[in-house]
Amino acid sequence: MIDKNENRFEEIISFCKRRGFVFPSSEIYGGFSAVYDYGPYGIELKNAIQAKWWQNMVHNREDVVGLDSAIFMSPKVWQASGHVSGFSDPMAECKKCHTRSRVDHLLEEAGVFADEKMSESEINKIFDKNKDKVKCPKCGSNIFSEAKSFNLLVKSNLGNFTGDWDKEPTYLRGETCQGIYINFKNVLDSSRVKIPFGIAQVGKAFRNEITARQFIFRTREFEQMEFQYFVKPEDAKKQYKRWKEERWDFYVNELGILEKNLRWHKHENLVFYAKEAYDIEYNFPFGFKELEGIHNRSDYDLTQHSKHSGSDLSYTDPRTNEKFMPWVIEASVGLNRILLMVICDAYTKEKIGDEERIVLKLEKSLAPVKIAVFPLLKNKPQLVKKAKEIFDKLKTAWVCEFDDNGNVGKRYRRQDEIGTPYCITVDFDSLDDKAVTIRDRDTMAQERVAIDQLPEYFSQKFS
Ligand SMILES: [Zn+2]
Repeated sequence: MIDKNENRFEEIISFCKRRGFVFPSSEIYGGFSAVYDYGPYGIELKNAIQAKWWQNMVHNREDVVGLDSAIFMSPKVWQASGHVSGFSDPMAECKKCHTRSRVDHLLEEAGVFADEKMSESEINKIFDKNKDKVKCPKCGSNIFSEAKSFNLLVKSNLGNFTGDWDKEPTYLRGETCQGIYINFKNVLDSSRVKIPFGIAQVGKAFRNEITARQFIFRTREFEQMEFQYFVKPEDAKKQYKRWKEERWDFYVNELGILEKNLRWHKHENLVFYAKEAYDIEYNFPFGFKELEGIHNRSDYDLTQHSKHSGSDLSYTDPRTNEKFMPWVIEASVGLNRILLMVICDAYTKEKIGDEERIVLKLEKSLAPVKIAVFPLLKNKPQLVKKAKEIFDKLKTAWVCEFDDNGNVGKRYRRQDEIGTPYCITVDFDSLDDKAVTIRDRDTMAQERVAIDQLPEYFSQKFS
């Protein structure tokens, strides 16, 4: 039996390709697993989400600054962070049918959660304890081999001219936050921030995921939006609570996600240095899954980098001269994952009379195209000229699209599908009354607005 949600997910995946949001990588060469490309509307949506996050986390705050650290770092960074020895997917083989599965996924299916940063022995302990609950997804058996770890770091030969790839490999970053930790002192010394303060960063990260699943939910190349907030140890609890609230608020009030589709998930099995960890989960068509992790990481990261680098990363309070190692509250989310959530949340089918329309009910500020401009007829030069004039004026402030192909009804459907909030039609009356018809995506209501009032009209609509 195919479940209804599975159908919906398949439909959304094919929609993403058909309408230029997301393409499978290297398709003309038969595809390339677990990597995706973003098409003309996909990149606009991704940029809009990123801009919103940046505005919310950096520009709206006095206590947060941005950073863009490089994808490549000294391999010592990944030794200090524990990624070289411990950043791995734990795999186990079913002894009956020999299918290999990720142990944390087997546990998750059984309702037991394990942290991805746990060591092989930590994972095996939890795996052993819950062996009667886990099941092979293929044959249903619960007899497995021991969990074995496969390191997730992607290696490269950057700067290595020995011809031996495994000799002192350089890694593509497995997460963006290490760039934040190693620049903690640079940011402190070069800006006016004082603890408590945060550093935010958006960028690509790479993981050699063994089982990449669910379209762009889990991919080998992805984009993270990470945020580390540095605090006094005694303030960590209070700040943790604050950031949990702020991040929930972002999804509900900034991205317009329905609260019923979001929930908190508390981590019960914490990695040894973590003090508290919650995920915000979203109800994807394949179930509630992690969207964002909000963690109290104690002073683990700065302490590790102090030890391994020999640079003292502790902080001295300029008022009290008190010296301490800052604790870190982290909020980390995949940009691609938010994009998938936003599309799943907005993708709507509506009956209009005998017809059905697909409409992407995106929060207006996220729409890849904000305003579409149509001349009523393609072969009437006066209408086309007027529509072009309006398009040229509005495009300097909003992403606009000019469309004169097919009848107006078809153009509306095309714009509905990509979530364009407003369509402007220039008709014969426009030449006399100097006004146009504006049609609203959600209500489909139309109103007549004077051409010289358009900038003000849209400034209000998009404010
Ligand atoms: Zn099996």
